[in-house]
Amino acid sequence: MAFGHRYTGLIERYRDRLPVHDDTRIISLGEGNTPLIRLNNIPRQLDHEVELYVKFEGLNPTGSFKDRGMTMAVTKALEEGSRAIICASTGNTSAAAAAYAARAGITAFVVIPDGKIAMGKLAQAMMHGSVVIQIEGNFDDGMRLVKQVAAEAPVTLVNSVNPYRLQGQKTAAFEIVEELGRAPDYHCLPVGNAGNITAHWIGYCELSAVSGDHVTEACTFCKGHCRFAGGGVAGQRPKMVGYQASGSAPFLRGAMVDQPDTVATAIRIGHPQSWDVAWKVQKESGGWFDECTDEEILVAQKLLAEQEGVFCEPASAASVAGALRDIRNGRIPEGSSVVCTLTGHGLKDPDTAIAQASRTPIKVAAEIGAVTRAILDNMD
Ligand SMILES: *Cc1c(COP(=O)(O)O)cnc(C)c1O
Repeated sequence: MAFGHRYTGLIERYRDRLPVHDDTRIISLGEGNTPLIRLNNIPRQLDHEVELYVKFEGLNPTGSFKDRGMTMAVTKALEEGSRAIICASTGNTSAAAAAYAARAGITAFVVIPDGKIAMGKLAQAMMHGSVVIQIEGNFDDGMRLVKQVAAEAPVTLVNSVNPYRLQGQKTAAFEIVEELGRAPDYHCLPVGNAGNITAHWIGYCELSAVSGDHVTEACTFCKGHCRFAGGGVAGQRPKMVGYQASGSAPFLRGAMVDQPDTVATAIRIGHPQSWDVAWKVQKESGGWFDECTDEEILVAQKLLAEQEGVFCEPASAASVAGALRDIRNGRIPEGSSVVCTLTGHGLKDPDTAIAQASRTPIKVAAEIGAVTRAILDNMD
């Protein structure tokens, strides 16, 4: 046992690789340091031998990876004297913005699509005291509006177009390389705005960089916001694989989608903000984009919950749905190590979970005979 070591969040942990100063007041809720869980039961059913991990980002303080970016964005907003932040959101960004703003003692304005937001996320934004503005439009409409507002009003935009967001989110790649001792061969993520796949690539590039390599590649993304310290696991980087929901798959269509639709509301985005840079990530890493149907996404979500004990939200399951398909069809070859990011917690969206659960509650009388019968009838 080691006593007196309190984990105080990813900025403290990776201070030398993040754009903070010695006297920066850090706004943290202890985000990061999420478990990298090796899947056991699902891979056993595949014909192909792979080392398959999920990085469970749903275990961040507000239940999604957005906390990694928000600790940086709010810390920097405060340092720059801002008293208010604003974001458009499909739900998780607003939950994180609301929580970190509460922690910092500033105001959060969150613009969300009317309906089409999971109940848990709305509860978070409301409970943390943010100003929730529901628009009669989708995420892409909201994004257009908050960009205009932030250009004129004294509020800091904390969507992933804020470069500090990606700086915080890159630390997930650091944690993975630390735990595995190397980068995985493949890293699979669900893609909405494509900020997170870009952030991971920045992280892997920084760790793999051998002197000048970083300047030519990763710095085209981070524009010098990182303070690259050198060293790391030289040379090796994963192929980055991004999965989109079929009804919301601009990277597959090769063009923006005006009416995106999917059960995976977190990635219901037709106009990705990191469009150009994500194509660069795909090319540089040698990875690819692919799509999953809503049905495949829900099957994977249920598989993870029922067979591995991991409850993620629908959007997150796109990474596993896609990876399993690409393992089966050999695009991800046998013997590979694969990390799938589970971006958010299943509790975010209880309605979708309850609607598709395999077993519904059994109603019986409150007496021993009835309960015993219910148990015996349902023994495997
Ligand atoms: C934000 C989010 C995504 C998409 O991440 P991008 O950086 O927009 O590509 C995926 N899943 C969940 C749960 C999210 O909250």
